[in-house]
Amino acid sequence: MDDVTLIKEKINIVDLISEYLPLKKAGINFKTSCPFHNEKTASFVVSPERQIWHCFGCQKGGDSFTFLMEKEGMEFKEALEFLAKKAGVILQRKGESGKGKDAKDRLYEVNLKAQEFYHYILTKHKLGKAALEYLKKRGVSNESIEKFGIGYAPNSWESLTKFLVKRGFKHSEIIESGLGVASKTSCYDRFRGRITFPLIDGKDNLRGFSGRVLQTAEPKYINSPQTPIFDKSTFLFGINLAKAEIRAKKEVVLVEGEMDAILSHQAGFKNAVASKGTALTEGQIELIKKYADSIKLCFDMDLAGDSASRRGIEIADKAGLNIKVIQIEGGKDAAEVVLEDPKIWEKAISEAVPIYDYYLASIAKRYDTKNPVDLKKIGEELIPIWAKITDDLIRERYNQKLAAFLRSDEKVIRDAVEKARKPISGDYAQVFKKAALSDNVVGGRTRRELLEEYLIALLLHPPLDFTFAAYHPETLFLKESFRQIYVMLFLYLDTISFKSRAFNINELASNLPKELVSEVDRLYLTQLDSKLQDAKFWQKEFESVVSELKRALIKASLERLSLEIKNAQEFGKIEVVESLNKRFRDLSVKLKNF
Ligand SMILES: [Zn+2]
Repeated sequence: MDDVTLIKEKINIVDLISEYLPLKKAGINFKTSCPFHNEKTASFVVSPERQIWHCFGCQKGGDSFTFLMEKEGMEFKEALEFLAKKAGVILQRKGESGKGKDAKDRLYEVNLKAQEFYHYILTKHKLGKAALEYLKKRGVSNESIEKFGIGYAPNSWESLTKFLVKRGFKHSEIIESGLGVASKTSCYDRFRGRITFPLIDGKDNLRGFSGRVLQTAEPKYINSPQTPIFDKSTFLFGINLAKAEIRAKKEVVLVEGEMDAILSHQAGFKNAVASKGTALTEGQIELIKKYADSIKLCFDMDLAGDSASRRGIEIADKAGLNIKVIQIEGGKDAAEVVLEDPKIWEKAISEAVPIYDYYLASIAKRYDTKNPVDLKKIGEELIPIWAKITDDLIRERYNQKLAAFLRSDEKVIRDAVEKARKPISGDYAQVFKKAALSDNVVGGRTRRELLEEYLIALLLHPPLDFTFAAYHPETLFLKESFRQIYVMLFLYLDTISFKSRAFNINELASNLPKELVSEVDRLYLTQLDSKLQDAKFWQKEFESVVSELKRALIKASLERLSLEIKNAQEFGKIEVVESLNKRFRDLSVKLKNF
């Protein structure tokens, strides 16, 4: 058993937190006012069962270690030493174990060897000729190829593996580094027929690779998988070369792909890094915060229409970053624009618009502000975003802008935004009640998001004598993490129902992927109406939420279809219009009969 697990077993989180805060018993949990934000009602919940805490007001939460880190400002190591002493545990080793360190060093070594190989193939070998020509065509200079260490992985199953084995690396090491994929007998090369980009961090460690196809095949990019030395969610491509400039300018230009970052550097904009996806993660934002206080995003999709991108932007706003969006006409990406004329890129960067203006512009493109139905949708989309703007002055400015944009009363907008800002208290029963749900936005979340949460929360609180409800497709959920939780939760409920065992949250959590656990914990700690302990009442509630979600899904499909029909009509595609119309009619009937 490792030190952390041992300490967690010996220290009861309720005792620990009681030393700092007055805890009151509430059902199987304990409650108090949150020490991390100002509040009148108690939203801070401690769960002895899960050995965790969570605040429903400010959404902070964690275990004994994170509590001390938040409350006492300790580093993890200090919290570890503090709790070890308290628990009477003698820490086995300080810092990294000798063995673990050696293994990591070997991974860095195998990466460096692979880098040598790829770069040689691209620049010196005939197998890399087509790739080199492709890079030239895309405008990548020799200097950039050297600076970024670009390479080429030949289109073969084992040329890299053979090369590495000859130099003393074991198959297991090649697989662990992610350069090879395990096969029945040994392993084969992960990157084949792809231009390779070494993924180097801010301290010049080579952590992994990404590979891009030369043609238009999918997927366009692949990355090293998660390894002991590589985690995509905390990585930004080009940070090793960009960090000095980012620090000097206090600003980072964030582009989507490796080619965008490389060509931006080539054109003289050396504060560009690539995020490898449009959804910014917390880890990436933490990294950016070390160097910059403002961020300019350039992605070739509509950030406002994509909920994952919006969440990333929300995290960046919370972290206090000033966010702007770089817009390029004609749907081109940064790499294409730089190749055409670096001046266009320079102009686009200098004319980046504040993120909330960008949201307004996106709304103007997608909706008709004179149509009352559209007005309602605009409210549903923007109010939750406005509610999450952390700075009071900026929020007020955009309340005014939104009011002017919709030609509506400022007070109406302000009230709606303020209402949406009210935190959801620990007592979810109130929020989840149908009455509360008739407001479209609560606590910055839309009714649909709340319903999805509620459904998961219901499944996490099955009544005692429950037999399992019918399975519904996970596409019922728009939020990806809920889909995953739903599938796992369903399997689990099915098993215990089959074996007539009681629901056990710890058993469920131990089988969940780590990244889903905190979301499940939060929903498990929500307090539901006590009437839901009655199986019949629970079942009825469950079915009514499912049917409302289904109706919402059909409505969304109808909206999409009517857009497609409009499009097809504009381009005179009569056959397409007919088949779309048929689908529209079928779905309308389905909705009516629901
Ligand atoms: Zn709080």
